[in-house]
Amino acid sequence: MSRPIKTFIYSDYPSGSLNISAIREYLARYGFQTEDRGNVISFLELSNDSLTSIAEILSGAVVDDISSDITKLSVPNSAQVNSEMNRLLGRENTEGVLYDGYWLERIFHRALSERVLLELGDDYLHLIFTSRLFGTFEDRRYHARVVLTGVPSLISTSGLIEAPAKPREYYFIKGGLIQSGKEVGVLDEMYKGRFVEYDDPKISSILCSYALQAVFYHMSGKAFCDNKACCLYNSHWQEDVLRVQYEGMPCDECLELIK
Ligand SMILES: [Zn+2]
Repeated sequence: MSRPIKTFIYSDYPSGSLNISAIREYLARYGFQTEDRGNVISFLELSNDSLTSIAEILSGAVVDDISSDITKLSVPNSAQVNSEMNRLLGRENTEGVLYDGYWLERIFHRALSERVLLELGDDYLHLIFTSRLFGTFEDRRYHARVVLTGVPSLISTSGLIEAPAKPREYYFIKGGLIQSGKEVGVLDEMYKGRFVEYDDPKISSILCSYALQAVFYHMSGKAFCDNKACCLYNSHWQEDVLRVQYEGMPCDECLELIK
């Protein structure tokens, strides 16, 4: 067990409902020191060339076909790089774009190593809250993820909405509505409160649990907890997220490890 001395928190342009102070207070409750480093791109103080190079790599890491693993980055065209540049600078949103999570991690790892090389050891944890939706390739396709541990660890505000599944019958009814050419918007109203929405006020509280998850993994190497009542449980369903991650607490066993 190695306890990080400090967790550095960054963000890009995450959901307006994400409150970094709330995340910091939550981690402080368990004795973890944090520092808010603000916008990750501003923090990195990149030259124009480095920024362009990051935009190129990011565009190459966009998943176009979810059934094909990105083992080698594709070569983007200039429109794609421009778009990515605008997203990096917050002039364009990242909605509807899925990135390969591991490439995202590599890109930020390289940029951080050029800026804060001495802080990349085990004593520190770098945690980036991003609006970007990312996935990892498993079982022959990409799956969207909320959290990806590593250096840095990434937490996606859109992943929280898109990755955990909605109730089974939601998809069943949706399929029926689409087949009969009906409006599906009504369905979201019917199921309101049973899944997390974009700019949901519950987002900060839920992401506190995911932030603890990233710190916990860094300390213990343990990815998730099997206890279905623990906020470190790997929720696959939106209803589980709302049940255990919202206002979530670790179970006694995890709490013991944290202490
Ligand atoms: Zn637990």
